[in-house]
Amino acid sequence: MATQIEVMFAERLSDRKRRLEEAVYRSNSPEDVRQLLQEVDRALDKIGKGTYGLCETCKEPIETDRLNMDPLVRYCIDHLSSSEQRALEHDISTARDIQVGLLPRKSITLPGWQSAYHYEPLGPVSGDYCDIILNETRPNSFFFIVGDVTGKGIAASILMSQLHATFRTLAQTGIPLGEIMQRANRIFCEASLVTHFATLVCGLADKNGNVEISNAGHCLPVVVKSDAIDTIPSSGLPLGISCDVKYKSSMLELVHGDRIVVYTDGLSEAADESGELYSEERLKSLLKTTESSAASDLLAASLKDLGRFIGNSKRSDDLTILVLQKV
Ligand SMILES: [Zn+2]
Repeated sequence: MATQIEVMFAERLSDRKRRLEEAVYRSNSPEDVRQLLQEVDRALDKIGKGTYGLCETCKEPIETDRLNMDPLVRYCIDHLSSSEQRALEHDISTARDIQVGLLPRKSITLPGWQSAYHYEPLGPVSGDYCDIILNETRPNSFFFIVGDVTGKGIAASILMSQLHATFRTLAQTGIPLGEIMQRANRIFCEASLVTHFATLVCGLADKNGNVEISNAGHCLPVVVKSDAIDTIPSSGLPLGISCDVKYKSSMLELVHGDRIVVYTDGLSEAADESGELYSEERLKSLLKTTESSAASDLLAASLKDLGRFIGNSKRSDDLTILVLQKV
């Protein structure tokens, strides 16, 4: 009895087989295509025998990320040939460069605000999404977004780039924030695997300090005013869980010196050597006591405090911190 995963890969491989068979007739070098076709047949044969997805050297399951990217891989990551290893390293390094290219410019100039962010993948690529989008349809405003796709590594980074494209497109449409969230959720839901979802905060800030902000199941953003420190509660499900979700937003009015700090759980759930978590509470106490003249100072203070807290323990997640300061 074939498992659900085997059925899924059998469908993908059969589809690829059909396309390759057509390509044999059209190709200038049909031998190359025939060779690929043989590989597809070999994979389909393995599905029949129940050995699909197992490394040909150690017989252990091959990483699902890698099978999703290429259903023809035959070896687990520990048993690649040296040329496969080099090709994989090259692919990953290109993916990292592409992902870095998707980040907002550090020197970006915002109407009425200063920004600073820290984006640090755990491995070569990250499942965190961090963006600032200047908005042609709303010239005195900008969007800011911090999100976190479930999991880490390549699969999460592909979904992160999908979120990037979705929000970049929707931001230019001029539709209200709640509708942007609703549409982004639908697009993410229809396009990603059922096992993947994304928590995310999206805000729209204008040069006068008005901020509309929506939180889809993400760590609570902290708003620091001269006389109070607040958090923005979650007002909707994470993206990708259910196709039809409505998102509420909160309205804030910030003045000169006020700040918003948005982060991923790479900060709040970073653990020290005893396993204790950094936590939102610790971040809030740090923000309460930090007098800073610039967004970048506050960011530096947060990173320093995190470093002090985790000491020699190993990081276990992607990390993003975005600080916005009203000027
Ligand atoms: Zn192996």
